[in-house]
Amino acid sequence: MNDGVDIRKSAYFRFYAELNDFIPGSRKQRSFKHSFKTPVTVRELLESFGVPLSEVDLVLSNGEPVDLSYMVQEEDNISVYPVFETLDISPVKITNKPPLRVTKFILDAHLGKLAKYLRMLGFDTLYDNDFKDPEIISIAASQHRIILTRDKVLLKSKEVNYGYYVRAIEKHEQLREVVKKFDLNSQFKSFSRCMTCNSLLEQVEKNKIKLMVDEDTFRIFKEFYLCKNCKKVYWKGSHFLRMEKMIRDLCD
Ligand SMILES: [Zn+2]
Repeated sequence: MNDGVDIRKSAYFRFYAELNDFIPGSRKQRSFKHSFKTPVTVRELLESFGVPLSEVDLVLSNGEPVDLSYMVQEEDNISVYPVFETLDISPVKITNKPPLRVTKFILDAHLGKLAKYLRMLGFDTLYDNDFKDPEIISIAASQHRIILTRDKVLLKSKEVNYGYYVRAIEKHEQLREVVKKFDLNSQFKSFSRCMTCNSLLEQVEKNKIKLMVDEDTFRIFKEFYLCKNCKKVYWKGSHFLRMEKMIRDLCD
């Protein structure tokens, strides 16, 4: 008889793709046996492993999709897949996350350069040095934005629906990583958005910006774009050419 005493059981776990970043070396990329006190849910076990639930999209137990409230049984084979894994797992997604129709982001304070680059590619990207974690989480939830962060703790919050821990440190590598991760290539609308404030740009008559740029710039360039919000003026100068090259490289 079980007099309410916890019984130890064990099951096999396997984490896929970048979820291995949260798992110690000996358990990466392979099935491992783990013992635990029962009863226990998948959710509790994932939390005890330190894997942010916001990065988990699918859990299979013995090949069948299960909810995070699933009670793990003796000898179960549990497979855990990350969010936005490029494998097509859409027919069996477990979580009740609302679909993201447009890819929009909110970035934490460490990712200012990445924010500018995502805006350059036309993605609606919120970033503010002063955003506090709870603010990021609540804006992300209400506006259906994906949180990009270098802070694993932030992603462990239960209120985070869509979050991704950016692995790369260097800004160009970060951009490449995010573009690949979310398969953004087909959604580029380059140079449609202000890199400074995230508002949309519109092409303007040259005369309208005459007093806003220096004489040489005004004389040399024909096309000008104006941010509707912060009134920053853009033209296709040397910056533009460098960024165009960067975008071509991303598409390769
Ligand atoms: Zn602007």
